[in-house]
Amino acid sequence: MSQDDTPRQSIGTFTHDAFERLQLDDEMRRLLDLPYRETRIELPMRMDDGSLRVFFGYRVQHNQSRGPFKGGLRYHPEVDTEHFVALSSVMTWKTAVLDLPFGGAKGGIDCDPGELSDNELEVLTKRFAERLLPIIGPDLDIPAPDMGTGAREMAWFLEAHARHAGYDPAVVTGKPVELGGSHGREQATGRGAAIIAKQALQAADIDLDGASVAIQGFGNVGRHLAHFLHESGARVVAVSDRDGGLHDGEGLDVPALCAAMGADDAPDSVTEAGVDGDTLSNAELLTLDVDLLVPAAIGGVIDCDNADEVQAKVIVEAANMPLTCEADAALAERGVRVVPDILANAGGVVVSYLEWVQNRSRYRWSAERVDEELCRRMRSAWEDVAERADEEDCSWRQAAYLIAVERTCSAIRLRGF
Ligand code: GLU
Repeated sequence: MSQDDTPRQSIGTFTHDAFERLQLDDEMRRLLDLPYRETRIELPMRMDDGSLRVFFGYRVQHNQSRGPFKGGLRYHPEVDTEHFVALSSVMTWKTAVLDLPFGGAKGGIDCDPGELSDNELEVLTKRFAERLLPIIGPDLDIPAPDMGTGAREMAWFLEAHARHAGYDPAVVTGKPVELGGSHGREQATGRGAAIIAKQALQAADIDLDGASVAIQGFGNVGRHLAHFLHESGARVVAVSDRDGGLHDGEGLDVPALCAAMGADDAPDSVTEAGVDGDTLSNAELLTLDVDLLVPAAIGGVIDCDNADEVQAKVIVEAANMPLTCEADAALAERGVRVVPDILANAGGVVVSYLEWVQNRSRYRWSAERVDEELCRRMRSAWEDVAERADEEDCSWRQAAYLIAVERTCSAIRLRGF
């Protein structure tokens, strides 16, 4: 059994380090620590087979001093309020480090979407949206996709919200393009992480062209990231999903993998994609001797039990909170450089912001314009963080938290509370 801190404690450690370095007073620390609102609602459901099941829906709103709450909806059987308190706080720091005019929130439903029919998921999502009505809105709190949700769920959410509050596409982001979604939103997290990976490798004196890469998770983020890294000349030697992974030291056939896993009739796992490679477990993937390791699936996968076995030179956190604070400290001690989630996977919320801007002006940008803006914002945030890390002689994570906490404090001081 791992001795690691919980996600909420881990995020506390990261933020408290910044509080100390910035010498914040106790009052400000208290304001930044606690979430603004924690909502838990009952979602009773008549299942297709006539039975009754009761799910719970959550929305935790952490901080809104820099703008409306913003963050995804996660459908996963193991979520609870504590989980979302940690993840909503991650969103506050993520929007701040990217300098987006939003605060942080996160929510979702304690269900396994793979077990539910399309009809059950639609009814559940719409019921959830209806019950969240008083605390959601384009200037209040704007949900988006996260693990277990995508454009389809956002369309259902939009419909349920519109029925009661009037039609406004800016109430959710990550919608289908036909309903006001932005070009490039689906690829945005992967594209953003690839931009950051390139910069991080460069800072570690490793050329992305020819660099060996292992990616854990081949969902929306991992798949697009593999594509962009492969296009930039990286050698993707291993990928995995829930059921295990594939390994080839010479580099996997990424275009074939992406085509198979992105198809309508995609197999359940990369191991069944018909692509050559040896099978390996998720645990083995995380400890491969590679230039770049990208955990792009669930949280807490690198902890005090396996941190010492990680051999990668650079880690880019494409998932939210894939490292516990103990693992982060152990890796820092060994000189492994880690780009934190609040910077590495921010491409999604950056394009969510661009989608919200487009919705509010009722004007659609070209895919090129979106990609350009995403690239510019990711690079600029990277420069802020890398520069700060040099100035303060600290890790990229510590630098990102310093910037995020500083910006949030400044908004609180200016507005009062
Ligand atoms: N769920 C994504 C994240 O964790 C996107 C959030 C958003 O676009 O609001 O960053």
